[in-house]
Amino acid sequence: MFTGLNPQQKAAVRYCDGPVLVLAGAGSGKTSVITRKIGYLIGECGIQARHIAAVTFTNKAAREMRERVQKLLPSSASRGLQISTFHNLGLSILRKEAQYLGRTPALSIFDDQDSKTLLKDLTHRDFGLETEALKRLQSLISDWKNRLVTPERALVEAIALQNRSDGPPDQLLVIAARAFELYEQHLAAYNAVDFDDLITGPVRLFQQHPERLQYWRSRIHYLLVDEYQDTNDSQYELVRQLVGARQALTVVGDDDQSIYSWRGAKPQNLVRLQDDFPTLKLIKLEQNYRSSGRILKAANAVIANNPHVFEKTLWSELGVGDEIRIVKTLNEEAEVGLVAMEIIDRRLQSRSTYGDFAVLYRSNHQSRLLELKLQSLQIPYRMSGGTSFFSRSEVKDAMAYLRVLTNPRDDGALLRIINTPKREIGASSVQRLRDYAARHSCSLLEAAEVLADPEQAARSASEDVQLPARAAASLQTFLHQLHGIRRGTSDGGATDAGKQLKEWFIALDFPQWLQQTSSSASQAERRFDNMNALCQQIQRMLDADPELDINGSVSKLVLQDILDGQEEEGADDDAVNLLTLHAAKGLEFPHVYILGMEEEILPHRNSTEPEQIEEERRLFYVGITRAKQTLTMTYAGVRKQYGEKLTTTISRFAEELPQEDVIHEGLTRPSKEASRARGRATLDALFKDLANDL
Ligand code: ATP
Ligand code: MG
Repeated sequence: MFTGLNPQQKAAVRYCDGPVLVLAGAGSGKTSVITRKIGYLIGECGIQARHIAAVTFTNKAAREMRERVQKLLPSSASRGLQISTFHNLGLSILRKEAQYLGRTPALSIFDDQDSKTLLKDLTHRDFGLETEALKRLQSLISDWKNRLVTPERALVEAIALQNRSDGPPDQLLVIAARAFELYEQHLAAYNAVDFDDLITGPVRLFQQHPERLQYWRSRIHYLLVDEYQDTNDSQYELVRQLVGARQALTVVGDDDQSIYSWRGAKPQNLVRLQDDFPTLKLIKLEQNYRSSGRILKAANAVIANNPHVFEKTLWSELGVGDEIRIVKTLNEEAEVGLVAMEIIDRRLQSRSTYGDFAVLYRSNHQSRLLELKLQSLQIPYRMSGGTSFFSRSEVKDAMAYLRVLTNPRDDGALLRIINTPKREIGASSVQRLRDYAARHSCSLLEAAEVLADPEQAARSASEDVQLPARAAASLQTFLHQLHGIRRGTSDGGATDAGKQLKEWFIALDFPQWLQQTSSSASQAERRFDNMNALCQQIQRMLDADPELDINGSVSKLVLQDILDGQEEEGADDDAVNLLTLHAAKGLEFPHVYILGMEEEILPHRNSTEPEQIEEERRLFYVGITRAKQTLTMTYAGVRKQYGEKLTTTISRFAEELPQEDVIHEGLTRPSKEASRARGRATLDALFKDLANDL
């Protein structure tokens, strides 16, 4: 378990007498400490794998951690080990404890967009909110939830604030507090939780039901947290609750990599740890095992421009390495073209695989041109942090079907699919269903059951809510198909659930529907393949975990979708990695490209306050420190923005790099000095040649 570890790492792995914090810069082996420690706890301390939980922030990081543990331990020894994201851990708790929150285990998860749609719906009639106001409303509610403020309390606070403020009253605050209450009621009615609930739900539950907290403490004997600098208040509270008096906790983090302040993350939580756990042992790691000397020096130089809570030094034995390149291209097309061509070239020259390359960028939309370029050159790639797979409409439709299948009260999902594929259920019929559901406080699906059946409808509904005969008949067919698949997958159908789901989508007429809505037959086929990929993924999840049922696998998938958009399932194994800087955290690649080294892109145009610039700098630091051997940054001289071609300015961060380790290439005009020197060299050579000839 200790082979190859340095003394500080060994100390961190071995120390089990109390809480321990490993604080260190990028690439110093923090995640390695976590994975080795899991091995140590199981192999040497006799703690069973099912009593150990390790949490991190992205699915990709969780997957990577799981792979590293698998290399250390036989699979039989690691069975039941819970390595997941914070949100997945929250989901496991909520599914088990659903009844205490007035829910059933077949929970639906509302992503950001679902929440927004619901809020819009709830406030539209009264306020007709603008998009900007809606955004603010959503963030106010999220903030209340994360601070564990109840809707009643929020309203009292909002009214008090409104009365106190000197300026014009902040109407939106009170509107938001009212909407908050309705929003919570609706989530309960849909048997749903939103993203914030995944953390705050367990925290509230444990506050109200200490006996349930005892139960979870008896399940989790040892907790390890990676990327601790990105925890927000409620995540921190959950950690504190779960750890309890046993204080069996290992936390690793790097305040210089804190990049989620916009989600309420607080690097100060690293300091708070020392207050809340007075016996906390602090271990610092200083050797970097990832990057060559120049890359590490560049990272250190950049981050030195930020103020520091903890002083850290990082050194590497990996040799100086190549210079860092900054390449300027004519425009954004040339920028992605250059990256693509270099990948082709370098892969052949240095015998690398496509997977050795990562292209990082600040914002999602920057990947679009690159994707097109890679596609045209037939270079395989996979994306993370984007919304590639799950944002496709056919995949969203399939997910909505699965959500209705597993949670009949998921009205949002039912609304998405009720007329997809087209089945002549018009808007007025849908409105009648909604009216009926509102009047009888039931779900839309229950309303559909009543109104689709002419006899029942005649008995229990008044004239004005009855559906036209065609709509009723088509709704009945739909319900029939839904009942059929539910019977199939619930009683022991898990062995071939994937196949059954695929057949269900065929019976629902999706292949034909996709033909009608796609631009070509091959596109329709690809789209159906995407739906099928989802079914296969569910089957894989069921096969991997005998305790999981179809409800569980669907909610896990929904969460995966929300968390990081995820790479395409079934994509080529050897593929270039396209990631946002946020999604790249914790990962490493031999060759890294950072696109768009320009003002307005990195730092982002909306982050101009000094504190925001510091966060952008940390994001850049995360980017640099992903590279093992080579680091190349690119920027476009001219970039199309808002339909206009604008001349760009190189990012201020490029100037913070140690210039002696950087070479500028591309369209940069050589300085006068350099061209004079080159001119002299050419003349010297000419004279030499002449002298030789003579
Ligand atoms: P980040 O801050 O980016 O998350 P980290 O501190 O978690 O980085 P790791 O990912 O654990 O760092 O390690 C970086 C690299 O160094 C990995 O390739 C890992 O295998 C390697 N490594 C870690 N410790 C050692 C060691 N003692 N000897 C050799 N290699 C090591
Ligand atoms: Mg790490």
